[in-house]
Amino acid sequence: MPDRDDDFYAIPGPTYLQQADVFDDVPLFDLPTLNQLVLLRELDTLARVDELRPGSFAVVDENDAYKPFYQGAREYVVMSAARGAALLITQTCNIDHADELLVSPLLALEGTRIDRGNLFAGKYASLFGLRAHPDGLYDESYIDLRILKAVHKEQLDIEDRVASLQPVRQFAFMGQIATAIARDWGNAAGEEVEEDGKYRCLRCNRWHDIGENPVIELRKGQLFPRCERCAALNGKSAQWQLLFRYQNY
Ligand SMILES: [Zn+2]
Repeated sequence: MPDRDDDFYAIPGPTYLQQADVFDDVPLFDLPTLNQLVLLRELDTLARVDELRPGSFAVVDENDAYKPFYQGAREYVVMSAARGAALLITQTCNIDHADELLVSPLLALEGTRIDRGNLFAGKYASLFGLRAHPDGLYDESYIDLRILKAVHKEQLDIEDRVASLQPVRQFAFMGQIATAIARDWGNAAGEEVEEDGKYRCLRCNRWHDIGENPVIELRKGQLFPRCERCAALNGKSAQWQLLFRYQNY
């Protein structure tokens, strides 16, 4: 019996869409796997389709079509899709301004070789675990942050949202995105300083309640010191990062 972790989801969620919301019935498009595309053309004339509407069309290999993509014209191409549950990846502040949003499909945990404990402890660099939906809409699941799909914002209706994450889980999710796609990096204690400069420990910069995070000055050839604050946090090692003078980037 999977855990029912009551602090995992916020249901109902906020009145707006936010990163890590889960939706049902999201169209999940599979890109064509053939090198040549399959086009929709007008049934009788095989002319380019200007505007898609329900109806009958010819389905044509682009190599056999008359002047495909002529002078940059857009064509309607055929691809497959399934509808399923997916988690919204696009960052909350960007959702209102984007026409296309990124999602990642929910994948069932059962039947995989993924270790459940490691999954929910965030130990898999590219995976993020989701508890079973409290109303049984899906079993324990995960997303693989290497599987990202685009949907148009019109296809992601707040009415189809089935779960939002609690803020602390969103925070964990952000960390997982960073780990999967943009792992932050810093020098560990004992490594050699390659550049004179001011440094601060990146790892403990995130917490407000573990004391000051002072800037230290190091010179090329010195060894990076321990970070006492990180060492106190379950013996974590430091992540010393070179600091720059602020500019309006
Ligand atoms: Zn630190």
